Amino acid sequence: MRQLFQSSTPFTISAQGRSVVRSALEVTGFGGPVEALGVRINVEHTYTGDLVVVLENPVGDRVLLLSNRGGSGDDLAFTTFLDNATVPVGSGSAPFDGTYRPEGRLAAFNGGIANGTWQLLIADTADQDGGTLLGWELEVEAAGPAPEPAPPASNSLIAVRFGGGLTPSQREAFSVAAAQWSTVITSRLPAVRLNDGRIVDGIEITASATRIDGPSGILGQAGPEFLRPGTLIPATGVMQFDTGDIAQLEQDDGLVDVIVHEMGHVLGIGTLWAANGLIRGSGSANPVFTGTQASAAFGTLIGEGPTPVPIANTGGPGTREGHWRESVLGNELMTGFLNNGPNPLSALTVASLEDIGYEVNQAAAEAFALPTRLELAMMGVWAEPASQTCCTLGGINRLEPTVLPDTAIVS
Ligand SMILES: [Zn+2]
Repeated sequence: MRQLFQSSTPFTISAQGRSVVRSALEVTGFGGPVEALGVRINVEHTYTGDLVVVLENPVGDRVLLLSNRGGSGDDLAFTTFLDNATVPVGSGSAPFDGTYRPEGRLAAFNGGIANGTWQLLIADTADQDGGTLLGWELEVEAAGPAPEPAPPASNSLIAVRFGGGLTPSQREAFSVAAAQWSTVITSRLPAVRLNDGRIVDGIEITASATRIDGPSGILGQAGPEFLRPGTLIPATGVMQFDTGDIAQLEQDDGLVDVIVHEMGHVLGIGTLWAANGLIRGSGSANPVFTGTQASAAFGTLIGEGPTPVPIANTGGPGTREGHWRESVLGNELMTGFLNNGPNPLSALTVASLEDIGYEVNQAAAEAFALPTRLELAMMGVWAEPASQTCCTLGGINRLEPTVLPDTAIVS
């Protein structure tokens, strides 16, 4: 963009001895370095041959505009300096009321900083004769302001607050994930006041990336942070990734699936099952999720009546009993592994949200059929060591959520 900045503050150029006047102009609003520049000055003076005029950028680089030209002539009357003017200022004569090529090249400012304090310096190099700097203008061409940071991805239910470290495309993945869960969950949740006094309606998830240990190793942490009293439905949650791992996931096209999966944990899938008393056989070889709705959905999948859902019976804390069992449900989104190809958010997962207290939209479930043993084998489910990336590898740490007091409910 191109913008004109003007100063009309007069400065007296003394007739006594030698003197220098400085006039400052504040340039603001650009998002990049100078691309082109023009300057116009308006000076009354009774002997222009005395004058040396210099333009200085915000970091002190200088370009000479005019040096002792015009002899005993009067005034620099709206004298414009442009690099591509045909007449060099040395060939002009007072009152220089036109466009001239400066002594130096204004292009020397190109690529340098645009925003900041620019100064015009006028030195009167001889005794006698004086005048007034009446004003000056700077026309700057530079990139426009940086775009506003993306507004938080939000809807009535899930709002993602972005912390640092995420690229625009990574933020977009969080927005996509929030939008998908928001089509699944239809609850209107009571507003709550957090310990710091902020009021949250819906579920606020703070997403960020920070350097932890580079690719692989620790992926980050994700989970609900503060829970509503009574229902235990989250008010806030955290999703923090290692910058090295999130970049790798994005390169492997797994980012959206991982974020949708981890956001499921923030909403309570796997993370709030025990707190809701919905796990049976904990610690055994066959732990199951006993929620009524999910049991009905699993019964439908296996062609029987309501049946408790097998959950992960391997892996460390936060993994075991925090996912559907991979060897039964294969590529379903909320098993502990990401599979190649689609990882559908099935009717089973939607039903399980109802069991932990949400109102849901079953129509938002994605098509899913129970994989055959052959399909599971071809997915690499029994591979040693497990090769696909997800929670089961232990790279995602879980937070211990805090239940807000009853008085936190605002509406
Ligand atoms: Zn997981």
